[in-house]
Amino acid sequence: MKNRPTGTAGRCFGSSSAPATKPAPSLDGSSVSEKDKDPRPSRLLKMRGQRKASMSGKLEQTIWDCAVIGGGPAGLTAAIYLARYHLSVTVFDDNTSRAAMIPISHNHAGFPDGISGPELLARMRAQAQRYGASIRGRKITGVQKDHGLFTLQCDRGTSFARTVLMATGVLNHRPSMLPAAHDEAVARGLLRYCPVCDGFEVSDKPVGVLGSGTKGFSEAKFLRSYTRDVTLLAPDGEHQLADAEQRDLEGLGVKVEDGPVISIALGADTITVATAARSFAFASLYPALGSDIRSDLAKSAGARVSDEGCIDVDSHQRTSVPGFYAAGDVVIGLDQISHAMGQAGVAATSIRNDLCEIEALVR
Ligand SMILES: Cc1cc2nc3c(=O)[nH]c(=O)nc-3n(C[C@H](O)[C@H](O)[C@H](O)COP(=O)(O)OP(=O)(O)OC[C@H]3O[C@@H](n4cnc5c(N)ncnc54)[C@H](O)[C@@H]3O)c2cc1C
Repeated sequence: MKNRPTGTAGRCFGSSSAPATKPAPSLDGSSVSEKDKDPRPSRLLKMRGQRKASMSGKLEQTIWDCAVIGGGPAGLTAAIYLARYHLSVTVFDDNTSRAAMIPISHNHAGFPDGISGPELLARMRAQAQRYGASIRGRKITGVQKDHGLFTLQCDRGTSFARTVLMATGVLNHRPSMLPAAHDEAVARGLLRYCPVCDGFEVSDKPVGVLGSGTKGFSEAKFLRSYTRDVTLLAPDGEHQLADAEQRDLEGLGVKVEDGPVISIALGADTITVATAARSFAFASLYPALGSDIRSDLAKSAGARVSDEGCIDVDSHQRTSVPGFYAAGDVVIGLDQISHAMGQAGVAATSIRNDLCEIEALVR
């Protein structure tokens, strides 16, 4: 699991499990279940810009300079850079970007009146496509590397690429609510997931934090710098706070209430959280329940991940698998649009420079 912002902003906690993936067919029909640990530049050189027959011989397959998995702020930023480096790039996206949930962001630089997540994503998609990037609404189910070439599988077939960028993000754990009520609460700012992003908006208002342990403690303490009215509610029963955390919260004036929470209801301007003992009305509720890091594809491709499940990268966003890069929430970081974009710019430039080492990029 990954915990977001709070007092330990940018740290990555917890882990997610690896999925089973099918071995993919290679271009020459051999099994590609073995990881390729030794890229072969000469073969890459030969393949660049060519179209190859698939295993069946029926389909012609493009070999992309880069396949980006994930069309959120990280993946789309990389696509813009890569396309403008005159590289061929395709983005696979299954349309579950965290950014798509943002009703309006006020901390994204350059938009003093704010911008919604869907609007930002639409602008970025248009920008990437303007320079020739292909964007496809498909979920990638497997990535394998063989002889320096990546094979990506989705339900509609197989694609091939010289490099891959993982920009798959994370999924927040949600409170127990019906999906429609959840989405309405997020859209109205009654439910918020990111104090770094929008703590300012709850300044001096009554705020609830749903969580316990270190995650709940950190988020409640972080929000205390915006308002003196913070309540930390345990979702499942008694709080699991260390003595020092409990004392710290008492000293800060944070109210600590045991659960279990039995209902969450939306009002005109408030969100009401009820336990068996009483109910609490907040201007906003912040779940601090952790996240699933979407790094399973990277793990199955042989990339090293941290104990928490974040993809390990170097300062150039390279993973432990040559030709395989990662950026955005799926790697350790601030879990912010600005950081996702910055990492993606670095990743795209590394991809360009690494490809150029194999074969000069000239017009
Ligand atoms: C409610 C809310 C409000 C927020 N407000 C702000 C804010 O104001 N400012 C700010 O800076 N940040 C904000 N954030 C955080 C911000 O949304 C994230 O940091 C940002 O979206 C991370 O970008 P990303 O590209 O790494 O991941 P994401 O935006 O999550 O995109 C990942 C993409 O990968 C795709 N994907 C995953 N697996 C696959 C697969 N196997 N095949 C194909 N596609 C796949 C997903 O569908 C998704 O589209 C907010 C988050 C939330 C939830």
